[in-house]
Amino acid sequence: MVELIKNIEKLKHERNAVILAHNYQLEEVQQVADYIGDSFYLSKIAAKIECDVIVFGGVRFMAETAAILSPDKVVLLPEPDAGCPLADTITDEDIRSLKRENPGAPVVCYINSSAEVKAESDVCCTSSNAIKVIASLPERKVIFVPDENLGKYVARQLPDKELVLWQGCCVTHAKVKASDILMMRAKYPEAKILVHPECVPAVVELADFVGSTSDIIRYAESSDAGVLLIGTEVGVLNALRISRPEKQILLVHPGLVCPNMKKTRLQSIFEALEYNRHRIRVEETLAEKARHAITRMLEVS
Ligand code: SF4
Repeated sequence: MVELIKNIEKLKHERNAVILAHNYQLEEVQQVADYIGDSFYLSKIAAKIECDVIVFGGVRFMAETAAILSPDKVVLLPEPDAGCPLADTITDEDIRSLKRENPGAPVVCYINSSAEVKAESDVCCTSSNAIKVIASLPERKVIFVPDENLGKYVARQLPDKELVLWQGCCVTHAKVKASDILMMRAKYPEAKILVHPECVPAVVELADFVGSTSDIIRYAESSDAGVLLIGTEVGVLNALRISRPEKQILLVHPGLVCPNMKKTRLQSIFEALEYNRHRIRVEETLAEKARHAITRMLEVS
C-alpha cells in the first residue's frame, strides 16, 4: 500500500493532477486526496482548480459535473461503473414531460443527476443549498427532481412554495426507519442524532439536526455531546473519528454504506493516472446547457 501511494503521488506530480474525494469514499482514497468534501464543495473546487487532470473519487455524476465545469481538463473516473441509483431514476425526457405538465414552473435538479437532466433544468442544487436555491426563485410553483425526501424536507422549510416532486430516493439513506431512531434514542438518551435530508421524513422529524454531509461534520465537530448518532453514509465517520477521537460516534443504521461509493480503490486510482483510464467527456452543446444550471447554483450560493 505504501508503494502504491508513492506511485500515485509521483503520477500526480508528473501529470499535474489533483484527486478529489467525496466524504463517502474509502479511507484509503481519502488518504491520497487533495480535497475531500461533499458534492457542493467538490463542485466549487472543480470549477476553480488549476491543474491538467482531475481524478474523481466518487460516482459518475460528480465526475460529469467536474467535466462540465472544467472542459479543458482531463477528468478521470477510476471506476467507470460507480453510478448513483438516485440519479438514474430520472431522464431528460422525464423532465420535458414534467415541464409540459407544469407550464411556467422552473426546474431545480439536485446535483445527483446526469448531465442530460442538468441540461434540461434551470438551476442545480445540493443538499447544502437546496433551500437557498429554491427560495431565490420568484415562481411559487417549482419542479424539484429527483430526490423526493430532500424535496419534502425543503417544502417544509418553504411553506410558500409549491413543489412538484419526483419519486426518486437514495436507496442507502432510505434504509433508515423511524423505529431505528427510536431504538437508538432509547439506548443512548444523551446522544445527539444528526441525519441527512435524503432520509425519509419520519426519520428527519425525529433528528436533533438535519443537514448535508459537510453540515453534519461541522455540527458534530463543534458539538458538546459525548455521543453522536449519524444518519448518513459511513464514510463521514472517517473524518469525525480523526478530528474528535474522544467522542463515541455511531451510525443509526448499519446499512448506511453506499456500494457505488466504495468501488474506488487505490489500485484503480493508480491505473486511471498511469493509463489515462476512464475519461469522462460531456459533449460541448450538452455541457454548455448543464453548465448554466450549475453556475447559476454557484452564483446563488
Ligand atoms: S449515497 Fe445515495 S445519493 Fe449518494 S451516491 Fe450513493 S446512492 Fe447516490
